[in-house]
Amino acid sequence: MTFAQILGHERQKEVLRRALKQDRLAHAYLFSGPEGVGKRLMALALARAVFCLEGTGCGSCVACRKVDHMNHPDLHLVEPDGASIKIDQVRHLQKDLSLRPSEAKRKVCVIDEIDKIGIAAGNALLKTLEEPSGEALFILLTPRPEAVLQTIRSRCQPLAFARLARELMFETLKRQLELDETKAHILTALSDGSFKKALGRDRELFLEKRIELLKSLTALSPRSIIPLFDFAETLSGKESDRATQQEILEIFQAFYRDLLLFRHGRSEEELINIDLMEKIRRVAGRESIPSLLTKIEALENARRQIARNANSQLVMETLLLRLAS
Ligand SMILES: [Zn+2]
Repeated sequence: MTFAQILGHERQKEVLRRALKQDRLAHAYLFSGPEGVGKRLMALALARAVFCLEGTGCGSCVACRKVDHMNHPDLHLVEPDGASIKIDQVRHLQKDLSLRPSEAKRKVCVIDEIDKIGIAAGNALLKTLEEPSGEALFILLTPRPEAVLQTIRSRCQPLAFARLARELMFETLKRQLELDETKAHILTALSDGSFKKALGRDRELFLEKRIELLKSLTALSPRSIIPLFDFAETLSGKESDRATQQEILEIFQAFYRDLLLFRHGRSEEELINIDLMEKIRRVAGRESIPSLLTKIEALENARRQIARNANSQLVMETLLLRLAS
């Protein structure tokens, strides 16, 4: 992956290209921005440009190919081990960094989800960031820069990545996935500027499964509690992890947002679920604007509770009771 092959983020590419050219790369970068917008791809493109035998990130020399296959001996990638980055991982990294680079002039160390480093491991890493052993380049990645330890943040040059522009995503999804306009529109809107979401397992959830989910949701009635509790159980069941639950709630929220926009007489292009217009018309007919606002608020609330690790079955039951009323 070269800089040119990464979609969007032109300003960020320019910053890095210029620093490379002038040989003024920072010792450590903090790439922040929503998940799936290409931070890791950009870090790897930078590693490639640093290691490249042609000095360009050509893509065809031995060094470039090793980066692409993730087997360059001077490239170190650290990711959370389970819920956090552990102190053992930092010690292991420090040991690697104490050795001289074996093929390149310097080592490159990419640490993903740096916000998930604990205090002890963070302090250990800080030592390495403060006293660079050898010429290592650190690229730290995070979707939540405000959650990164301040001591670590202050050692890094920040580079923020924005969500990808809708137009760019829409055109790319249409071309890459050979989707029709309707599906590309829905996937673009629901994946919210994140290619990782649009191209990953969420694609099926956002396109096909969404229709089933909304069908079950809109069939619920406060008078028949059993189907409602069954649906809550399905949504919070074993196969559905917290990330999936959040995405299902996003789908519900997008639907209620559509209903609200429809009630306000906005045009179809502003809606997300444009393949479900008949359902939107029907359900919007039995809701009022205040009732829709209350339901959207209930959804917000449910998302916050799921994020806080509340009992998901209970959260879903309470939510569905509100949505069905
Ligand atoms: Zn190369």
